[in-house]
Amino acid sequence: MTIKIHKNYIAGEFISSDHLFDNINPIDGSLISRVAEADQAMVDKAVLAAVKASSGEWSAISLSERCKILRKIADGIDARFDEFVEAEIADTGKPYKHASKIDIPRGAENFRFFSDLAKTVSTECFEMDTPDGNGALNYAIRKPMGVIAVIAPWNLPLLLLTWKLAPALAMGNCIVAKPSEETPGTATLLAEVIHDAGVPSGVFNLLHGFGPNSTGEYLTKHEDIDAITFTGESATGSEIMRVAAKDVKSLSFELGGKNAAIIFEDADFEAAIEGTMRSVFSNCGQVCLCTERVYVHESLFEKFVLELKKRAETLIENWPEGQSMNLGPLISQEHRKKVLDCFNRAIDEGGKLITGGGVPKFSDTRKAGSWVEPTIFTGLGEETSLLTDEVFGPVCHISPFSAENEVIDTLNSTKYGLAAAIWTKDLQRGHRVSRQLEVGVVWVNTWFLRDLRTPFGGIKLSGIGREGGLHSLDFYSELTNICIKL
Ligand code: NAD
Repeated sequence: MTIKIHKNYIAGEFISSDHLFDNINPIDGSLISRVAEADQAMVDKAVLAAVKASSGEWSAISLSERCKILRKIADGIDARFDEFVEAEIADTGKPYKHASKIDIPRGAENFRFFSDLAKTVSTECFEMDTPDGNGALNYAIRKPMGVIAVIAPWNLPLLLLTWKLAPALAMGNCIVAKPSEETPGTATLLAEVIHDAGVPSGVFNLLHGFGPNSTGEYLTKHEDIDAITFTGESATGSEIMRVAAKDVKSLSFELGGKNAAIIFEDADFEAAIEGTMRSVFSNCGQVCLCTERVYVHESLFEKFVLELKKRAETLIENWPEGQSMNLGPLISQEHRKKVLDCFNRAIDEGGKLITGGGVPKFSDTRKAGSWVEPTIFTGLGEETSLLTDEVFGPVCHISPFSAENEVIDTLNSTKYGLAAAIWTKDLQRGHRVSRQLEVGVVWVNTWFLRDLRTPFGGIKLSGIGREGGLHSLDFYSELTNICIKL
């Protein structure tokens, strides 16, 4: 069987490289494909193509024409839906229902959403008084920023890549994108769809490779990159910020989290359990918004721990195509080692293991995959590593609390600030507590319910800036004020 090679897409052409690396299936450790790592010369070529394109056709094309092309890209994803689903599942091992209901449809929807929004958005206009009485008129226009480096992670590969690409293209920018080395599949298919949709050559370029001393670093260091939009680990964000400081590049960062859920004594118990199951174990805990710290009112604590344990033990780690599968593997053996080290450290630090903590037993080829058991701990103090550091796996720690102000202080005592979920029937409390939490997104009686028009992002170590709706368009455009003396 010939092994597929994922190529780079530069200046409208698909190009391999001298260095190929393996793309491994986390379900069973098998080889899916080989990936062409872009070296410094290829990064230079892609950036040059984008620079040339940015001073030419793309920004000169009318907004409505650009938006039509974005909708064509969405239609192109729909037309090859099954291929996209298959590639996303092969790279990540996630359940079919997750890839086919969330990842791929949202990938297409991101293009439609920003195409519609870009056409309706207005800018500011201020009439001002002047001493001669004639006045002046100020109005703002949006211009493209130029060439944008888009760097994406592996957990929601197509969804998070297109969440950046669509608004950046809508605003007339040119792109050099790098997907995660773990998930090259859907990004390469997307390059084919973009090519077929008639996007002029050089407007969108795709490079494969790693981060440090590889494609990612060469790209973020490049002096002709005007802005960097990055989703990934906080430590990587910090390193990119250091590198970008020299040229004072614009930055948009969506980084790690250590998100909490609070279950108050008046919560709808079933809804809180069901919501917490989703928020802890969705995508095997590999969503930046996943809950890793759960605080339950002391009156419900024992009952909640028992019920969450019972349900966690019913999760099915099956083959992705099976309808029964609701927990996939971790992304790689390397990530599994990190997650298992976190579990072992939690035990060393005195944590009580309620369920899981190890690797599931299989009698087939899944033995060579990157699986881990859904895991719950209790009994740890706030200063221990399981409560301070992001794990990014199917795990939570559950702590009891007695008073509202105490749990708010505890929740805020982390270096991260991405998301929180509150479960209560008292909406006064829902409003009151939400505004005191140091996070960018709060859900009350739900989790991961997303309206794409709303601001999305984190504070502290969880990021810089906001994406979503107008906030994305603001980042991907330079607003210029024009003042006309009348
Ligand atoms: P990562 O930081 O390891 O890698 C992300 C991307 O950055 C990859 O494409 C990688 O190759 C590249 N990269 C790594 N080092 C680089 C460097 N020095 N220079 C340039 N590029 C570099 O993150 P990951 O492991 O792929 O993703 C998981 C992390 O992403 C978690 O921390 C998770 O919380 C976070 N995340 C955050 C959000 C959010 O919206 N806040 C969403 C998804 C994931």
